[in-house]
Amino acid sequence: MRVYNFSAGPSMLPEAVLQRAREEMLDWQGSGMSVMEMSHRGPHFRQIAENTEALLRQLLGVSDDYHCLFLQGGATGQFAAIPMNLLGERRVMNYVLTGSWGKKAAAEAKKYGEVRIAASSEAEKLTTIPDPAAWDVDPEAVYLHYTSNETIGGVEFPFVPEVDVPLVCDMSSDILSRPVDVSRFGVIYAGAQKNMGPAGITVVIVRKDLLRTPHPATPQVFDYARQAEAGSMLNTPPTYSWYLLGLVLEWLRDQGGVEGIEKRNVEKAGLLYGAIDASDFYRNPVDPRYRSRMNVPFTLADPSLDSLFLEEAKAEGLVNLKGHRSVGGMRASIYNAMPLEGVQALVQFMREFERRHG
Ligand SMILES: *Cc1c(COP(=O)(O)O)cnc(C)c1O
Repeated sequence: MRVYNFSAGPSMLPEAVLQRAREEMLDWQGSGMSVMEMSHRGPHFRQIAENTEALLRQLLGVSDDYHCLFLQGGATGQFAAIPMNLLGERRVMNYVLTGSWGKKAAAEAKKYGEVRIAASSEAEKLTTIPDPAAWDVDPEAVYLHYTSNETIGGVEFPFVPEVDVPLVCDMSSDILSRPVDVSRFGVIYAGAQKNMGPAGITVVIVRKDLLRTPHPATPQVFDYARQAEAGSMLNTPPTYSWYLLGLVLEWLRDQGGVEGIEKRNVEKAGLLYGAIDASDFYRNPVDPRYRSRMNVPFTLADPSLDSLFLEEAKAEGLVNLKGHRSVGGMRASIYNAMPLEGVQALVQFMREFERRHG
């Protein structure tokens, strides 16, 4: 039996994608081999790689002004790769902190230049987004970095900030969940394992004119220009993850693209927050304006019931609901691949749990 998996990542994949991968496991489209066994330089994999990039460009509306790169090292690798490729002779970077991932990105960037914090919600325990009108944006900054969805705290930007320096955005946990105007960004990057596929592959969408001579100590695998020239195959890429990413993108196209999936995401999040708000037993700590559609943290009125909640949920096939260790309580990650039925089952379980133990 397949469970409803609320893990923050690696996370649930669409069942249709897993079925398709199973069908193609031993013999990919008459090639006589698994995608895992193919040369990354051969015609079969080239086709997979090109299809994946074309689909990504189509779904997000990425113009030729941007490179689409498929790299390794996760979003964490990009925390370093971004300053290494964008700073050039200049030093100043702006970071907006609305959660743990933004803080990690800023800490890594410090190795390469001067990080100035344009805004931070740490005083509000990372549960909100500071008013953009009050951000201290440095006009000298090479870029301003923010995290569109903070996966741990469940804080998501419902808007794209308007600033006078290029925007760099960590979209690891909400890419492809809603339409975005890519032309507003200098760099968008995301690890695949939240909302796009399996772990092992990281998408980087970078405006070509922002590339500078990379920091002299930049590893060649993190050199955006060289990777772009090599079709992201400067070394052996994570071929199977790349293939699965392509299958997820095909599935997403068949769901009506990002516009189609957004409607379902709004419905799923509305159902879950509605259930939390309708009860005194459950509580979400985030500023209601900035609640995430993807990651929904919540606490029980009586934390001594936490482990019982998790145990009983698991018995109902609702798994990985434990909150991040830094926040406690519960967290339901309801990415694109989580069906509405999964959220309905969770809400029903929550009501019954409250009835029995509230
Ligand atoms: C998971 C996550 C990361 C870290 O991703 P890795 O692939 O593990 O490096 C960074 N940023 C956000 C927003 C995330 O959700």
